[in-house]
Amino acid sequence: MNGSRVLVLNSGSSSVKYQLLDMADGSRPASGIVERIGEGPVADHAAALKQVADELAAKDLGLDSPELAAVGHRVVHGGTRFTEPTLITDEVVEEIEKLIPLAPLHNPANVTGIKVARSLRPDLPQVAVFDTAFHSTIPEAAARYAIDVATADRWGVRRYGFHGTSHAYVSRATAELLGKEPAELNTIVLHLGNGASASAVRGGVCVETSMGLTPLEGLVMGTRSGDIDPAAIFHLSRVGGMSTDEIDTLLNKRSGLAGLCGDNDMREIGRRMGEGDRAAQLAFDIYIHRLRKYVGAYTAVLGRVDAIAFTAGVGENSAAVREAAMRGLTAFGIEVDGVRNALRSATARLISTETSRVAVAVVPTDEELEIASQTFDLVSA
Ligand code: AMP
Repeated sequence: MNGSRVLVLNSGSSSVKYQLLDMADGSRPASGIVERIGEGPVADHAAALKQVADELAAKDLGLDSPELAAVGHRVVHGGTRFTEPTLITDEVVEEIEKLIPLAPLHNPANVTGIKVARSLRPDLPQVAVFDTAFHSTIPEAAARYAIDVATADRWGVRRYGFHGTSHAYVSRATAELLGKEPAELNTIVLHLGNGASASAVRGGVCVETSMGLTPLEGLVMGTRSGDIDPAAIFHLSRVGGMSTDEIDTLLNKRSGLAGLCGDNDMREIGRRMGEGDRAAQLAFDIYIHRLRKYVGAYTAVLGRVDAIAFTAGVGENSAAVREAAMRGLTAFGIEVDGVRNALRSATARLISTETSRVAVAVVPTDEELEIASQTFDLVSA
């Protein structure tokens, strides 16, 4: 291997994000996003990937550049098959395709991204980094749902968890912030973006997470319900006459903050709350209530909590969410400093008081860097 650069590709359902990272000096020579795939000039994912290649070539950073060591692909679902970053071969592509029923919205786009990138540079090592991988260590007692075992196993119904790249990066970065080894630390990571998930990490190893078979379970999110009695689905079907697809859309796209108050952006909700808007206030209260339940549950799961880390769009930027989530938890050893919490910064920082037994931190996530590092480590091994 010659080059020191890794191109990270994140092919989502309607967009392709890319970032070129230089692992030798930490620089990021290029990044961008191709959006609205299928809606306008960008007909499909293949066209989007071609556009990414063209944008890079225009900057003399094309896929044929000798400095490029590898491409790292974010892949959403690795099932139980993929628990590590994996060098992509024809067989690996086939296996990721077999996982499409588990992630019908995400894995097809990921596969197309891989295929196009491989066709453009067949000789270049390409690595798949799975969003589920960090959660593969969750013990059976936490990963299994309490349903008939044979049915669950036949259809792959279990907790996989998502946002794993972020939970891995943030739990490690939290240890670094505290000057500890990951093995010394029990951490609750709260990834609060438009999608949101919590994880419990014991000594650097994930032992529980809030998303499940799909990213729908757990916390209240921008447009997803999170936890709900599964019998609500039968009720909406039998009594409400809704189809499976309609209920899927309801719970994934018309629920969460958006479903509760019409807005999924926490900035807008904060603004409306300031004007005394009751729907926005209730949406916020429901969001916080769920979050606190998970903090309590994961405290019991871990037994001893050393750190709580807030990350992603809401976690990094909303002092109001952090304050409300951590309020009145002194009995748990959690004390947030109001002044520290209100400060804005792009780097990892502590927001707990000097006397707080649990360190509370804001730790900006960096999924691209994590994917690039895992990719580079694998191809340079
Ligand atoms: P992400 O999915 O991590 O990109 O997070 C996106 C979400 O972060 C948005 O939908 C907003 O709800 C939230 N967000 C971004 N900036 C802010 C901010 N300054 N204050 C509060 N929430 C924010």
